[in-house]
Amino acid sequence: MSMTNKKTIEDVAVQGKRVLVRCDFNVPLKEGAITDDTRIVAALPTVQYLINNGAKVILCSHLGKPKGPAPEFSLAPVAARLSELLGKDVVFAADDNVVGENAQKAVAEMKDGDVVLLENTRYRAEETKNGEALSKEFSSLADVFVDDAFGTAHRAHCSNVGVTQYVKDSVAGYLIQKEIQYLGNAVNAPVRPLVAVLGGSKVSSKISVIENLLDKVDKLLIGGGMAYTFMKAKGYEVGDSLLEPDFIDYAKDMMAKAGDKLVLPVDTVIGKDFDNDTETKVVPEGGIEAGWQGLDIGPKTVELFSNILKTAKTVVWNGPMGVFEMPNFAKGTNAIAQVLATLEDATTVIGGGDSVAAVNQAGLGDKMTHISTGGGASLEYLEGKDLPGIAALNDK
Ligand code: ADP
Ligand code: MG
Repeated sequence: MSMTNKKTIEDVAVQGKRVLVRCDFNVPLKEGAITDDTRIVAALPTVQYLINNGAKVILCSHLGKPKGPAPEFSLAPVAARLSELLGKDVVFAADDNVVGENAQKAVAEMKDGDVVLLENTRYRAEETKNGEALSKEFSSLADVFVDDAFGTAHRAHCSNVGVTQYVKDSVAGYLIQKEIQYLGNAVNAPVRPLVAVLGGSKVSSKISVIENLLDKVDKLLIGGGMAYTFMKAKGYEVGDSLLEPDFIDYAKDMMAKAGDKLVLPVDTVIGKDFDNDTETKVVPEGGIEAGWQGLDIGPKTVELFSNILKTAKTVVWNGPMGVFEMPNFAKGTNAIAQVLATLEDATTVIGGGDSVAAVNQAGLGDKMTHISTGGGASLEYLEGKDLPGIAALNDK
């Protein structure tokens, strides 16, 4: 797929150029204060590279979902934090029109190496409609466009897709480059064996991922709530476990198609109620009793999955193995995270909002090769879809 062959900031001349960078500064705010600056910190390598190479660095991002100009969604706090992190002035171009007079003036006054941050792109309703007028306005500020916002790459908006139609050089920043490299190669050019671990709550929300990955993987391990629809398809009762009756036939087809590529849990931790402190027991395959529900994979499944994972050279993981938000049902998820953390020469890639949260909750985030920064975007990538935000960038 051409998605892995995109130009990056190192492939274009930036000295003295106005470089517009679409960042992901969609940070959590509480009463005007940033409560987690991870995304700002993550943008630093690209921003610093451009500063060091004498570009005029113009940054933009959305923040939340304002319906128009709204002070509580202003990017002003991000400019302040970014300035602290860079140890240098960041000019905030307060402007209800985003690319209005104020922004134009701030950009016109820039010297090489200066940094300007534009106001929240979603102050303009056209932003999410990928309209021509606003796209052209963004392009009027840019000699070069850099996309570094993987989290919005699955959406076609003015500030990541529309703008590229009017700028000659549109390239990937370091964050997107990393996503393409790890997520893209894991799925499209993996070092084998490639093992995918899928979990989470619903088969229905992961169907496209299962279908796309089944052709590519050597093994597909299925845990989490989606496993019970497969168990039902095997003819077992699943009690009060999560079940999607409309997908039982689909599960049967998948199992027939996949043969021994597809590996299901061989035991289950069941509970009386959906509650951390409920009564629990471990039951073998087919042993889920009426009035009980499956809330985690059991120890034999952990062992089975671990043994397969230990043979892997590439692992892609999406979806927790159980209700990891409750400590008593996080054991399966934590055990799998632990195994991935100890794999010596395997590439381990984690995608999906809850999966990333689970790995971080286990304190093992830094033991993984790559943690995808885009929940929805990484899922769509795993589904094999072209992400418009990446497709729009120039090929090498
Ligand atoms: P991701 O965000 O990584 O793509 P999902 O959103 O698909 O993952 O699924 C995460 C959710 O699945 C979690 O909230 C977790 O509690 C739930 N889940 C996992 N196993 C079960 C289960 N056995 N029963 C009910 N919910 C489950
Ligand atoms: Mg989720």
